Amino acid sequence: MTARIIDGKALAREVEARALARSEALASRPGGRRPGLAVVLVGEDPASCVYVRNKTRACERAGVASTEYKFPADASQAELLELIGKLNAAPDIDGILVQLPLPDQIDPDAVIAAISPEKDVDGFHMLSAGALLTGRRNEGFRPCTPAGVMKLIESAGVNPEGLEAVVIGRSNIVGKPQAVMLLEAHATVTVVHSRTRNLSEITRRADILVCAAGRPKMVTGEMVKPGAVVIDVGIHRTKDGRLCGDVDQASVEPVAGALTPVPGGVGPMTIAMLIDNTVLSAERRMGAA
Ligand code: NAD
Repeated sequence: MTARIIDGKALAREVEARALARSEALASRPGGRRPGLAVVLVGEDPASCVYVRNKTRACERAGVASTEYKFPADASQAELLELIGKLNAAPDIDGILVQLPLPDQIDPDAVIAAISPEKDVDGFHMLSAGALLTGRRNEGFRPCTPAGVMKLIESAGVNPEGLEAVVIGRSNIVGKPQAVMLLEAHATVTVVHSRTRNLSEITRRADILVCAAGRPKMVTGEMVKPGAVVIDVGIHRTKDGRLCGDVDQASVEPVAGALTPVPGGVGPMTIAMLIDNTVLSAERRMGAA
């Protein structure tokens, strides 16, 4: 068997095209306007700069007005919080994204908590986390990476209901919300992490395996059930400058039924879901949702 490669880039373009139609509908309402996203970057981390550029380009494709706010790497937390206060109050801003990671002098939890929950398009605020956990679909926002993973699984023609799903990783932004979304889709979910014993024994049970450990190529073919859908969330730059994920694609491809590539899998879908959340926020704020 050779895994079918799931085209995350093509799926992302479909999501963005639907977002564009929704943005145009909002702009053509009497007194309407395009959705607005504020992107805040502190410092010049090269990976963060690439992510911000990709997000800005996606906004252009989807008819979302994006504005970038850049701070030097030694900016204070107070400066950042002051800007967030202004963006919270700005009528034409529907979403606020603060690119992570932040420099050491800034507490990311304080920054996330300061973003108005109604503009929390990254879905990291406690209110969004609580809404997800309690199944309130009309409140808060779903975190973009796990929401994108659910769409990738669906696009592989797999309904999680009744299947065994294993999530590797338990971070607040990927692993934990991913487990909740799979549970919501009626999968039987196991979360494994750095303290898990017999990791391979558990991953080999998975019909759906989501890999978000942040360890380059740690998931090998012998850890995968034949025919499984394998979603590679990890993103790493190798010494020779190429990108790879948490999955050793060469050994997993002959075993899995479907597999997301890196690049071109989860990455573009994460950005597409950010756009989707921003348009949703604008629809809610303009009374169109
Ligand atoms: P994190 O470091 O916050 O969490 C990693 C988790 O993996 C932890 O819960 C840890 O317990 C677990 N883990 C670590 N080593 C392990 C091991 N050997 N076996 C089992 N579990 C192990 O990372 P994160 O923010 O969740 O991100 C995970 C990866 O996904 C990173 O490579 C990150 O760059 C990538 N990522 C990609 C996107 C995207 O858009 N493509 C978005 C977010 C994160």
